[in-house]
Amino acid sequence: MSVPEPELPALPTRPDGPGLPDGLPSAAVVDLDAIAANVRALRGHAPTAQVMAVVKADAYGHGLLPSARAALAGGATWLGTAHLSEALELRAAGISTPTLSWLTVPGADFRAAIEQNVDVGVSGFWALDEIAAAAREAGRPARVQLKVDTGMHRNGITLADWPQLVEAALKLQADGLLSVVGAFSHLVTADVPDDPVNAAQLASFAGALEIAENAGARFEVRHIANSPATLATPESHFDLVRTGLSVYGLTSLPGRTPEEFGLRPAMTLLGRVINVKPVAAGQGISYGHTYTTSVDTEVAVVPLGYGDGIPRHASSAGPIQLAGQTFRIAGRVCMDQVVLDLAPGGIGKVATGDVAVLFGGAPGQPTAQDWADASDTISYEIVTRLGSRVPRLYIGSAGRLDG
Ligand SMILES: *Cc1c(COP(=O)(O)O)cnc(C)c1O
Repeated sequence: MSVPEPELPALPTRPDGPGLPDGLPSAAVVDLDAIAANVRALRGHAPTAQVMAVVKADAYGHGLLPSARAALAGGATWLGTAHLSEALELRAAGISTPTLSWLTVPGADFRAAIEQNVDVGVSGFWALDEIAAAAREAGRPARVQLKVDTGMHRNGITLADWPQLVEAALKLQADGLLSVVGAFSHLVTADVPDDPVNAAQLASFAGALEIAENAGARFEVRHIANSPATLATPESHFDLVRTGLSVYGLTSLPGRTPEEFGLRPAMTLLGRVINVKPVAAGQGISYGHTYTTSVDTEVAVVPLGYGDGIPRHASSAGPIQLAGQTFRIAGRVCMDQVVLDLAPGGIGKVATGDVAVLFGGAPGQPTAQDWADASDTISYEIVTRLGSRVPRLYIGSAGRLDG
C-alpha cells in the first residue's frame, strides 16, 4: 500500500532566514522543525492529553505529508482531517498513526476507511447505517467517533438525539460491526476564553459523555479543544486536543502572539522583485488607479496576486518587507502581481531580483496575522488559501523520509 514519495527538495537555511531559489517568482518556505517544535510546545500546554495534529486542507496550506510527518516527529499521536480522501492519502503514504476524518459524506468509501483503519466521525443515524453496511461487507468492524452538537449548530447530532445515537452505535458495536472509539464536539468561541458560551459547551459535553458512559460506552478519546482552547482553556483538554492553526505556529487569540505560547510560524511567503522603476508624483498605480503617488518615487513589482491566494481585499493594505522595511501594497492586488510604492525610505534601495517577504516568523517580518488584519479575515485563511501555483519548499529535518 505504501507508495514511495519523492524526496523533499533540500534548501539551505541561511543565517538571515530561508532563501528563494533563483528563477522562481515566489515560494512558501515551510520549516518542518518549527512544526515539530510547535507540537512539542502544545504537548506542554496540554500535558494530560494526547495531541492530534489537524492536517486538513493540505495542512492549512503547508503541505499534507511533510507537515504530518513533522508533527508526528514532534510527538503528535493522532492526525485529524476533514475529508476522508485526506486521511486515505496519509495511509497511501505509509502513515499508520490513528487518524480521524470528521467530514462524513453520504455514499463515501467507508469500506476503504475500514480497510485503512481510519476513524470516521458520525453526526447522524444515516452514517451509522452506511458504515455498518460497509463493515458487514468488509467482514470487520469500523472505527467510529460520535460527534455531538453542544452549541455550534453546524455538524454533530443534537443533544436531543444523542442518547439514541449512542444506543444505536453500542448495539452495532455489540454486533461486531463498529468499534466506538471516541466522542467529540467543537467549540464556538474558544478564541474568546471568557465568553460564557465556552463553559456552557463544556458542561453540555460533560453531560453528553455521562449519558453515553451510563449507557455503556467506553471511549478511548473524548475531545472538544481546538487550538485556542488548548492554549487558553485547560479544562477543555479531556483526553485529546485537536490542534490545527497552532501546529503551524499561528494563534487566533486576540492580542496574543505565537511567541507567548512558545510557537513559531512555520511558513514564510517570499516573492522575487521583477521590476523597479521611477514613477512621478500624482500618478495612479495598478487597475482602477485606486492609489496615487504623492511624491516622485520608485515602484517595485512583486509577482504574487489573487491567483496565488493573496486576498484582493488586501489592496492598498497588505504589508510586504523589502530592504528591511515594510511597505503597504499600492493599489489593487492583481491576479499575478502587486506593486509597492518605495517612497520615501525605499527609493534607491531595492533592485530587480531582491527577495520580498510577505509574511514569516522572524522578528520584524510581517505576519499572517498582519495580512489577516489588512484583509478583514483570519490568519487561518491567509495560509490555507495560498494557491497551488506557489511552490512549497521545505527546510528543517523533522519527519523527513531521508532523515
Ligand atoms: C479545523 C478543526 C479543528 C482545528 O482547529 P484549530 O483552531 O485550527 O486548532 C479542530 N476540530 C475540528 C472539528 C475542526 O474542523
